[in-house]
Amino acid sequence: MILEDLHTHTTYCDGNDTPEDMVKEAIKKGLLTIGFSGHVYLRHGEDYCMSRENTKKYFEEIHSLKEKYKDQITILCGIEDDLYSVEDTSMFDYVIGSVHDIRVDGGYVTIDNTPEIFEQGVKKHFDGDFYTACEKYFESLPECMRQKKPDIIGHFDLVSKFNEKCNFFDENHPRYIKAWQKALDELLTFGIPFEINTGAMSRQWRTGPYPAKPMLEYIAKHGGKIIFNGDTHAKENLCYKHEELEKLAKDAGFTKRCYAYDILNRKNK
Ligand SMILES: [Zn+2]
Ligand SMILES: [Zn+2]
Repeated sequence: MILEDLHTHTTYCDGNDTPEDMVKEAIKKGLLTIGFSGHVYLRHGEDYCMSRENTKKYFEEIHSLKEKYKDQITILCGIEDDLYSVEDTSMFDYVIGSVHDIRVDGGYVTIDNTPEIFEQGVKKHFDGDFYTACEKYFESLPECMRQKKPDIIGHFDLVSKFNEKCNFFDENHPRYIKAWQKALDELLTFGIPFEINTGAMSRQWRTGPYPAKPMLEYIAKHGGKIIFNGDTHAKENLCYKHEELEKLAKDAGFTKRCYAYDILNRKNK
């Protein structure tokens, strides 16, 4: 099985390890490619994003590691962009397009920080109506695609990160299903791969990856593409449970997956 991880975080943002320690671990684990995807600068996300100054240092360090380890592993310098960021990301090898907040009057409800923050935000801004909050979240994903033109669609159903443990809403509710199907119908027209992301599994929030099984089946049925990512915040979790994803993807109806070279080829066209 080809091991690659294009969704990784380091000490430049909210990861535990330095880029070089991540590279060494990736080589040890036999990865063909490691891509770094530090969180793009967000004014309201300074606790987990790269500062503007750190973004420059990150870019330089990843490029020097590319050179240093070029005989052992392919290293890519990407970024995890965010719908609500205003930074220029054109210098990066690839862009993951993500949404981590629901925009509301007077600010943002962060959906993936802690269950308490998410719950309090939905209580305050949506009168506790999680379905309206989820609808707003899924509506923002095609907007992210149009504005950011990413190469990979990040953690499609991030809004459900805490749901397995906290039961905030019913994922079989018609309003929830309608909201994600509508987002998928539009996202599928772009032909960009969705990541199957095991980041919430390695951090013990979910037993399955993003996107949830019915969504994956829907993507497969409509000819969508996938790529395996770890959303790795600690080196020991590189390609976390990726060996299980091949079967999971096959069961959902996929016959192939994308790799780093597919992303770069498409970008260079
Ligand atoms: Zn993310
Ligand atoms: Zn991430």
